[in-house]
Amino acid sequence: MSIARVAMPVATWQLFDYWIPDGLAVHPGDAVHARLGRRSHTGVVVGVDASTAFLDRLQPIDAVVTAQRLPDDVMELAAFVGAYYQAPPGMAHALVAPPSARVRKRLREPPRSDADDAGTPPLNRAQTLAVTAIVASHASFAPLLLHGVTGSGKTAVYLAAAAQCIAAGCQVLILVPEINLTPQFEHRVQAALPGVRTVTLHSRLAAGARREHWDAAANGTAQVVLCTRLGVFLPLPRLGLVVVDEEHDDSYKQQDGVRYHARDLALWRARRRNVPIVLGSATPSLETWAHARAGRYRLLSLGERADPRARIPAIHFAPARGQDVRDALSPTLRDALARTLAVREQALLFINRRGYAPSLKCAACAWQSECPRCSARLVLHRAPDRLRCHHCAHTVRPPRACPECGNVDLLPAGFGTQRLEQAIRTAFPNARVLRVDRDTTRSKNAFAAMREQVDAHDVDILVGTQMLAKGHDFPRLTLVGVLGADNALYSADFRATERLVALLTQVAGRAGRAELPGSVIVQTDFQTHAAYRALASHDYAGFADQLLAERRAAELPPASRIALLVAEAHARTDVDRFLDDAVTQARALLATDRAVQVFPPVPPALARRIGFERGQVLVQSARRAPLQAFLPRWREALATLSGTRVRWSIDVDPTAF
Ligand SMILES: [Zn+2]
Ligand SMILES: [Zn+2]
Repeated sequence: MSIARVAMPVATWQLFDYWIPDGLAVHPGDAVHARLGRRSHTGVVVGVDASTAFLDRLQPIDAVVTAQRLPDDVMELAAFVGAYYQAPPGMAHALVAPPSARVRKRLREPPRSDADDAGTPPLNRAQTLAVTAIVASHASFAPLLLHGVTGSGKTAVYLAAAAQCIAAGCQVLILVPEINLTPQFEHRVQAALPGVRTVTLHSRLAAGARREHWDAAANGTAQVVLCTRLGVFLPLPRLGLVVVDEEHDDSYKQQDGVRYHARDLALWRARRRNVPIVLGSATPSLETWAHARAGRYRLLSLGERADPRARIPAIHFAPARGQDVRDALSPTLRDALARTLAVREQALLFINRRGYAPSLKCAACAWQSECPRCSARLVLHRAPDRLRCHHCAHTVRPPRACPECGNVDLLPAGFGTQRLEQAIRTAFPNARVLRVDRDTTRSKNAFAAMREQVDAHDVDILVGTQMLAKGHDFPRLTLVGVLGADNALYSADFRATERLVALLTQVAGRAGRAELPGSVIVQTDFQTHAAYRALASHDYAGFADQLLAERRAAELPPASRIALLVAEAHARTDVDRFLDDAVTQARALLATDRAVQVFPPVPPALARRIGFERGQVLVQSARRAPLQAFLPRWREALATLSGTRVRWSIDVDPTAF
């Protein structure tokens, strides 16, 4: 009789042994049902041994879940994720385990696209060169950065390269940052690659479909696999090409549980499988940019819009404040909106805050609506009137009078999408206005319905958050107005400027995608700031080079490697004591080793969240190896010092602080 060593989906660092009943074939890579305490879990077998002693104390494997065994590279990926991100083996293996197969429905084929997508326009010279470079890297590890301005046709490049890869009998893995973009992307794949079997994988897929798509990827019948970050863990026996679209996007980083970065894991997989990987972006992350500048990634540039009629939109600035600014709209933006409506074109107003106003304020004293459980303002929402915390579920009716001084004159402070929508309806009573934010797109089909309304020109002005920034093509949209962008300049996060430029470039890229020329008006009080200069000059490369030099001088990523110890507890004193001890321990472990630096504890941007006090300690190294050698030793030491009152985790390569 044999013993199976199983990674069970629990947050401990141990593996669990089970005996294998006669007649059950169990191998490494199998997903199995087994008991832990009284409950049955699905674990992944990492090893099988001949039995020795203590067999009677062990529980049996109850069943093998799937006939689909996880291949070696996926098992190695899970082991790498556990080791690199300091995650328990069971949690790392849970990421690669096949999804639960309880609900088994017939897979409904996704609707075929019609009309507008028919026929793919020919590629221009830059696109053709990019496709050639990707295809020439077939069957070898080659990271390629496809840096293309918005509208330059990056997707057409991915799909042309995919077509050749599929013709050679391979599978193509395409990662996209947003669930909302998968249906649109899927239509484009079907139009460009007729007859190719495409499956999608994302968290909103019903369990039955998820399992069916997982199987199609794992048995090699799916030729294109289109997914959000979790798709990076799929078994793909005939993988030939990996594409990471919008590689700079923060949603590739998982922010809880196992805090992996899907772009970085996609690179790991491409290297392990010896296949090319294309990282596409108009505003590459500085991590990727640094690799390209150092010659480790091949840089492929698309400098022009793919549609020869389309021009890069002109960027203009207007003051965000001042006596001429009424209802958050500068006269420049107001006039431009009026002109756009007069010629029956469409406009998009971007403001990255949902709700009516970021807070409610007392006109007499300093009182502002604050969440009792988080260190954050309560956001004022209308229809119905509520004060809501965007970090926890806390919701209350707005008070009639100031809780501090009794004054009844409470005023909304600042603008959110709801208030901007109201202002636009007042200023342009005949315009058809549509608001798009998380509050208006909660239902499953709301996003698709919005797209149809805009395509059918049932909308004149769109008001929305960054949901509207990514990847949408609206041919009659010629004016983009940006409000409230200056808020990002006050952020303490060292990536704030990089992110602002990425976001504004995407928003601006919505204007003038077809033959109608577009223009962008950014309302700002700091138009000489480097971020806005980069946007206006359309020189992302120059901006990224400068930012990279600054990061080197400050020894910040990508010029260094960092990890964050994050702790939270109900009492501030517990957090502080734990982190002080953690720093002491880290310094003791490092002794005279100067390769890793430990910084004093600091509160995160949100010092209290959902009733928990929070704190963090940053550790940094010029190189990855010393940090990776230090982290498991520190983690083990931390486990000995934490009581039950403090919850803590280590975030390797953090993107949020
Ligand atoms: Zn007051
Ligand atoms: Zn809250």
